[in-house]
This record gives sequence, structure tokens and C-alpha cells, in this order.
Amino acid sequence: MLAPRFNTKGTFHLELKNRISAYFQEVGKSSTGNYKLFIKAILMVISFIAVYVHLVFFTPPTLLALAECLLLGALTAFIGFNVMHDGAHGSFSKYTWVNKLAGSSINFLGANVFMWSTKHNVVHHSFTNINEVDDDIDARPFLRLCDSQKRYGIHKYQHIYAIAAYSLLYLYWVFFTDYEKYFTKKVGNMPMAKMKVRDHISFWGFKALHLVLFLAIPIYFIGFWPWLIGFVIYGMFAGIVLSVVFQLAHTVEDTHFPLPDAETNRIEDEWAIHQLKTTANFATNNKIISWFLGGLNFQIEHHLFPKVSHVHYPEISKIIKQVCQEYNIPYIEYPKMRVAFASHISHLKNLGRA
Ligand SMILES: [Zn+2]
Repeated sequence: MLAPRFNTKGTFHLELKNRISAYFQEVGKSSTGNYKLFIKAILMVISFIAVYVHLVFFTPPTLLALAECLLLGALTAFIGFNVMHDGAHGSFSKYTWVNKLAGSSINFLGANVFMWSTKHNVVHHSFTNINEVDDDIDARPFLRLCDSQKRYGIHKYQHIYAIAAYSLLYLYWVFFTDYEKYFTKKVGNMPMAKMKVRDHISFWGFKALHLVLFLAIPIYFIGFWPWLIGFVIYGMFAGIVLSVVFQLAHTVEDTHFPLPDAETNRIEDEWAIHQLKTTANFATNNKIISWFLGGLNFQIEHHLFPKVSHVHYPEISKIIKQVCQEYNIPYIEYPKMRVAFASHISHLKNLGRA
């Protein structure tokens, strides 16, 4: 499949880039992460290791163990949002090796950074919400996420069972879709770059390490059934947190799902305008949500400037909003997370109707 092409006439993207680079020059800051991000990353990773060690080697009482499994699931998602995501985009630090290290945190959590970088940095960030290209909106046949996807009878209930489907995301990703991408050499319909020998070694090495850390060692210390229950709860909760945060950014009532022209394979808008039509922010005034989600509630800023660390999004969002106003381009924003969530559920409900 050939990648769609965007309209290259227009000055909106250039204007945005000029204003943001002028901002960083004016304040004299680097656009990558700062000490606050590094402290947060260390805190999250230490918390994860502490909870893991307590669960596996100290056999906490059942109720506490279940709560710790949920916490471990949430920490998996938070490390993904705050450390891995910035690292894989190269925005975590000005040093390449630090970005690689931060990005590789995903390998320890069971998923693979090579597959992630293709799926997310290349496909999702370039072709956001374009059906048949953006793998993030492909949850077929379970969910219908845009109106150009085929509707099945079961979709009538998708707003009810969506959370159950989301709970499978992490486990499905780690144990199935990574391998599917590896063997088909594709992300959805898009071909992946050729993997080098070291990428193959890293893929199999980290998959094996994950099995040792998250299956073999816990089973040895706490037994098969307690491990299975704990691991499934952990994986399901991680899946819910990851999916809900992803979905609130792109699959809500106000975002669009543009399709390329059938003959020319061209998208009507220039790339930056396409990003604004397909992406939404939520709860940007909530400092706690912003801290835990690693700026993924500032998805507009992230999609326009993925190489800028999320620590700068609150400041640059003011500039982006201003430019959008000047160019009369929509800036989709939900004031609270629960409003965005309700909008996502309504979106699912609308698409499930005949
Ligand atoms: Zn991203």
C-alpha cells in the first residue's frame, strides 16, 4: 500500500514551526526534557521495581497483592507515557543514548521498541486517523472506530463492551501483535523498515527476558495460579489505562477521520491542519493528570511537535492556540477527562448504530 500524500501548499505548518522555535530561543531552553522529567522517570521506575519485588518475593496478603497488581499495571502505563514515549520520540533528553535507554524501557515491559517506533512514530504520527493506514484506529472486528469501517451487528453494543476489549490490549500486544508485525514485516497495511541483525537479537532477547521476569520467576516463587490471577489483573489494568488515554486523543465526537482521494491518494489538508482535525486535548488545566499522563492530554502539541518534550506542552499550547485562531483552524479541547471519556463513549455509540 502506498502512503497517502498531504497537501504541501499552505503556510500554517511553517508559521507554527517559526513561532515555536522563536519561543525556545527567547526563553533560552532546550526543547528536550528537564530535571523534573528525569526525577519523575526515576521515581516511576523505582516504584515499579519496588512493587514488583514486593509482589514476587514478599508474598503480600491477597487483597494487598491484588491492589499491587493494579498499581503495577498503572505504573506500566505511566512509564510508557512518561519515559518510553518521550525516549522513542527522541525528546526525553538531548543525549541520544539517554533517549535510547528511555525508549528501551518498553522492551523490559514486554513490548518491542522497534515495532513501537514504526507503529507509532512513523505510521500513527504521519497518518493519524486515516482508516486502513493508522493502525491505532484498527480494532476490527471488535470495535468500529470510524465510519469508513464496516459495521457489524455486535457494534450496537460496542460502547458497553469497549472497556472489556481495551483490557486485552496490553496482553494482546505483548503476546500476539508484536509477533504478527515481526513475521509479516508490516504494521497493518504499511511495510516496516528492514530489521538489522541487532534488532532481531534485541527482539528475541527482550521477549525471552520478559518471559523470565514476568512468568518464570513469579511462577517459581508464588506458584502458577496466584501468578496467573495476578498477571492477568496486572495486564488487563495496564491495557485499560493505555487504551483509554490513546482513545481520548483521537476517537471522540469532534475529531475527524479524513480519507485520501481515491484516485490521487492525496489528503486535502496540509499535514499540520490534518493533525488538528484528528487530535484532541483534554484536562490540560489538571496538573495531576498532566503529570501522570506525560503530556498525552496535550496531544495536539505532541502531534505537531513530537520532538519537543511533554514538559514544554503547557507553554507552547498557548502559542499553538493563538496561531490556530489566526488561521481559523479548529483546536479541539475537552475541559475535563470525564467529558472526553463521555465523548468517546458517545462516538462508539453513534458508530454502532445502524
Ligand atoms: Zn507520540
